[in-house]
Amino acid sequence: MTDTIFGKIIRREIPADIVYEDDELLAFRDVNPQAPVHVLFIPKRTIATLDDATPEDAALLGRLLLAAAQYAKREGFAGQGYRTVINCNEYGGQTVFHLHVHLLAGRQMHWPPG
Ligand code: AMP
Repeated sequence: MTDTIFGKIIRREIPADIVYEDDELLAFRDVNPQAPVHVLFIPKRTIATLDDATPEDAALLGRLLLAAAQYAKREGFAGQGYRTVINCNEYGGQTVFHLHVHLLAGRQMHWPPG
């Protein structure tokens, strides 16, 4: 399995502003935030892209989304609203090949995205 910068964050080889952790997941602030709140939720087990996920990963994928939603509730911006995004491969804009959910909040989002 190819290592990524997120693998280094999981192993604490490089620093990150970690906001949530449990046995299976880690969440930390994006180093190049696109909104006042921009947190990345990742599985500790490496799955390169959403395209690589299998039915065995269904519960893990669900936990990623629920962790993001619970964080939004806990931090008090769930009612106002937020966006979750998973970029996949080149046209999806994926740059780090360790599956992650972007949680963006704190400003009005627009649709369609660029
Ligand atoms: P994506 O383009 O969907 O693969 O998103 C990758 C995200 O990882 C980008 O928003 C980057 O700003 C973010 N990122 C890259 N390196 C780091 C890092 N060391 N710590 C936190 N976020 C990072």
